[in-house]
Amino acid sequence: MSKLRIAIQKSGRLSADSLNVLSECGIRVKNGGKLKAEAANFPLEALFLRDDDIPQYVADNVADIGILGQNVVIEKAKNVVVQKTLGFSKCRLSLAVKREDEYTNTSWFEGKKIATSYPVILSKYLQEKGVNASIEEISGSVEIAPGIGLADGVCDIVSTGSTLLTNGLKEVETVMKSEAVLVSSPNLSTEKQALLDQLLFRLEAVQNAQQNKYILLNAPNAKLNEISALLPGMKSPTILPLAQEGWSSLHSVVKEDEFWEVIDQLKGLGAQGILVCPIEKMIL
Ligand code: ATP
Ligand code: ZN
Repeated sequence: MSKLRIAIQKSGRLSADSLNVLSECGIRVKNGGKLKAEAANFPLEALFLRDDDIPQYVADNVADIGILGQNVVIEKAKNVVVQKTLGFSKCRLSLAVKREDEYTNTSWFEGKKIATSYPVILSKYLQEKGVNASIEEISGSVEIAPGIGLADGVCDIVSTGSTLLTNGLKEVETVMKSEAVLVSSPNLSTEKQALLDQLLFRLEAVQNAQQNKYILLNAPNAKLNEISALLPGMKSPTILPLAQEGWSSLHSVVKEDEFWEVIDQLKGLGAQGILVCPIEKMIL
């Protein structure tokens, strides 16, 4: 039987979350420091690689699928298909200059030198903005470049901005936003495509569950219709009579952010004993 081969970052910011998302899909893989590992309970084999190498491996069919940042997918521009965004490793690729520089807009970079590990994305961005700047490609510690006189500014990954701050830099433009994605090779065999579809189905269930909560509350019968209208649920809410006359227990599913919007209205309608519980998997 064929196995789906997944490329995962060997050690870095994506590693733990990549294994974790598989584990939430019921697929357990151990990163034991080897190049390869097999999943215990799914026809899947993991290859542990540098994230920069993942697009090439997937495009060449050495791996069928991979997990990596959108920033690397776009920078490497290989023939891979983005199947799903995964919601972790959120960051942005930004331009930064020295804190004391009087930055105006992107034209500030005209004729200047920018250090980056993302020359492809940066040159496309500069071209779109009509700015002529020279790009100094360096592979690591980009943020020290202005301080040592290697460049006037940098184009680098930022999440909180604290690395920029400690290097005397300020963020001035967002070039792109990024998060982890699942990519696949564009030409998978029918068997492998079927396995990928199973994995995507599970990922969908995990993501739906993360965005939704199970809600239980007690409501006076007279207000059930109004309360149900606020909590439409997957089909409609479940309503069970309480032992106490005139009251019911209502169960439904709500989006976490929508829950906070309706909580005051629920209370206003007389809802009591409101419980909001996590959902592990949700299949629509
Ligand atoms: P490798 O040795 O595999 O090449 P790396 O040093 O290139 O590793 P990491 O620093 O582990 O890569 O980052 C991997 C990915 O995680 C980045 O490409 C980016 O998508 C994302 N990332 C990087 N920095 C952050 C951050 N501070 N917060 C959130 N996500 C980040
Ligand atoms: Zn890398």
